[in-house]
This record gives sequence, structure tokens and C-alpha cells, in this order.
Amino acid sequence: MEAFNIKGLKITINKEGSPYYLKVSYPLYFEKFTEIETEDYIFRFDLNNRIKFIQGKKKRIGEQFKLNCASDWIYYCAAGYKGVYSFLGEYYLPCFGYAKNPLFDIYGYDTKFLKNLFRVFLKLVKRLEHIIKSNTLNEINQIVKAIITVNSVQAIKKRAEEFDQITSGGVTVLPPDCRHVDYEVIPLNISSGCLYNCGFCSVKKGTKFKNRSITDILYDIKRLKRFYSADIANYNSLFLGEHDALNAESKIIIETAKAAYNKFGFQYSHMKNPTLFLFGSVSSLINAKDELFEALNSLPFYTYINIGMESADNSTLKALQKPLLFQNIKEAFEKMLFLNQKYMNIEITANFVMGNMLSDRHYQSIIELSKSAGKSSYGKGAFYISPLEKSGTPSSYVQKKFLWLKNSCAMPTYIYLIQRL
Ligand code: SF4
Repeated sequence: MEAFNIKGLKITINKEGSPYYLKVSYPLYFEKFTEIETEDYIFRFDLNNRIKFIQGKKKRIGEQFKLNCASDWIYYCAAGYKGVYSFLGEYYLPCFGYAKNPLFDIYGYDTKFLKNLFRVFLKLVKRLEHIIKSNTLNEINQIVKAIITVNSVQAIKKRAEEFDQITSGGVTVLPPDCRHVDYEVIPLNISSGCLYNCGFCSVKKGTKFKNRSITDILYDIKRLKRFYSADIANYNSLFLGEHDALNAESKIIIETAKAAYNKFGFQYSHMKNPTLFLFGSVSSLINAKDELFEALNSLPFYTYINIGMESADNSTLKALQKPLLFQNIKEAFEKMLFLNQKYMNIEITANFVMGNMLSDRHYQSIIELSKSAGKSSYGKGAFYISPLEKSGTPSSYVQKKFLWLKNSCAMPTYIYLIQRL
């Protein structure tokens, strides 16, 4: 790490943040980055010199804006570190520009604040341009030039388009377990579509489940490696998409995880504890063979598999147009408990929905299911509760009902906010 004070700016290169994604109630930096500190703001740039975080020093201290790899701005609201943890299991409430946060009924940012932030960033660019003219330190000049080039409006737009192209239109939803790595995952599709195409679902593509060929997957690994470029050294987590990767052929799941680990160089990452994430369905979990879990358990990853159960009540499943019955949900839940107990490096979690149009029977069914676990949950396997999108459920209902559910369930229970990439 080297720090330079130039014309009122403190520029630190190769600054190292925590190599672990810790959950703390203060702003903690992860990864390796370049930092520029002005009188009022701290700007952090990734290893490709792209802006990644902007944090105020005087206003909204502790809160920050993040530009993710899909070029979405996300506002990390600390809400005074009061209460957010009970809902999300995290100290920050991520707020997006593309969807209202159902918990507090807010968008990621009021436009005025974001516009001001862009102005602040443009001012920084002006100061950096001035530095290039007068500074004699070659190393700094090179970084500053790169920062100016890769952060133009056009460059950010181009990068978003490139990401969209590689991921075939972006990732519509990430598993809730990705919160454990601050959603810093490399997405790689090993399949497309899903088994049920449920009526209620707002993230489905409406296509039948299809495996992808290993040749296509390896080609995407190459493209992703090029896309992340130098900043790949800050990644160690992989999301195998799309909506039911657990239903893909076992050979494809395991070969892809191994190939990605090696090609992305996760063993050399600045971040420790590589993590693998995938979605699964009730059917794919029930049908998956022991050999798959044996193989997953011996990978150099801790693997989270998130299963969409939605309800354990037959009439709710019918109303959601999810072609499953209580017996299927119960069987999948029992297998989840069994696998969580058996495998040290695998954790299966479950999703359920909430909304003010759903009956008490639905909520009671989730509570009873959780209680049937007895002591066999071993602290693994959270329940994630997802407010139904476009249901018009008021945030006051979401907060109250969720806290009641959390206090009634015999499993760790959190709100699931649909986050895309
Ligand atoms: S809930 Fe899951 S299985 Fe149902 S349509 Fe959505 S992605 Fe497909």
C-alpha cells in the first residue's frame, strides 16, 4: 500500500480491505482497491480502476453508494444501525434504483441525492485531470488516467452492455444467501429456464428447463474472465444460474464449479472462503443423488443451495400456481435438514412468500414446517421470506407480519429482497 498527498487529494494505491465478508455495524472495506479521499468524500476504485464505492465523510456517514459489476447503483442504507439486522441478517439495507424496497417502501435513492453524487464525482474527475498536467509521479498519473477513462458515462454504459451480452440479458435474481458475500459473485449459467413456471413468479423467463453444454459454459468462463480482468483477484464466489441449476446434470455442476475455481484463480483471490451459490427446486432437491452432494461437499467451496418452497399449504400453492403439494414440500424440507446435518460444506436454505392477500393458513404452515425440524436444523438452513412483488402489500404489513413470523418460526428467518445483477 502506498499513499500520496497531491493537491488536497489523498490517493492510496493497493489498499487492502478485509479478506473476509464480515458482518459489522460500521463501514468495513473488503477487497483490494485504490482510494481517493477528498475533504468531503471517500471514493474507492476496483482493480480495473472503476468506481465501486462512494462514501460521504460529513453527510450520511456510514452509508455508501456501490456500483456493481452489472453497473447498477445500490445505496447501502445503515438506517442508524437500528433494526435492519433483525429483518435481513445484515447491518445494511440495500436499496436499488430499479425496484422499491418492500420493507421500507423506498427506492434506492432520491434522485436529488444521486444527481449530487454524480456532480461530486465529476468534480473529482476535474481535479484528477489537473493532477495529470502538473504531477510528475508516473505511477499515479497512469492510475489517474485510467480512472478518468473507464468511468466516463459512455464507458459505464458499454460495460453494462457487455455484461448483459455475456449473461444473456443479465441475472434477474440472485439467491438470498449471496448476502454472505455482499452479492459479489461471478454469475455463470449452466442451465436456463425452470421446471414449474409458476404463475406468481416475477423473475421467471417462462421457458422450459434446459441444460447448457459444457463447451458453451467454458466459453462463458473465458468471456467472464476477460470481463472481470484485473479485478478478478477480488472475487472468490460463483453463482451457478439460472433458476434451477440443481436440476442440471451432476457432471455439469461439478465440472463447471471446478473449472471456474481454477480459471478464475479463486485460490489466489484476496478474499478468503470461496463460496458457491445455486438455486434449486423442490423436485431437483428430492431427485438429486447422494453422489452429487458427496462431490459438492469435497469441492473447495462452501455451497449454498436455495430452494423455492413458497408455502406448505395446499390452497396457497394452488393460488400461486405452483404445481406442488404439501407432501412434496415436506419431503424436500426433510431432505434439506438431512443434508445440512450430513455435509459440513453444504447448506440448503428455503424460500417462502408473503403478502397481505395470503391466508393465515399459509403463515401457520410455514411455522409448523419449521417446528417439525425439532433439533435437526443444527443452526443451518435459514428460511427466507419474500414479499410478493407487485402485490401492493404495504411495508407496515411486511414489517409486522415478518417480525411475528420470525418470532414464531423455529428456524433462522430473514426477509429476502430480490436483487439482480
Ligand atoms: S418460483 Fe422458481 S420454479 Fe417457479 S417460476 Fe419462479 S423461478 Fe421458476
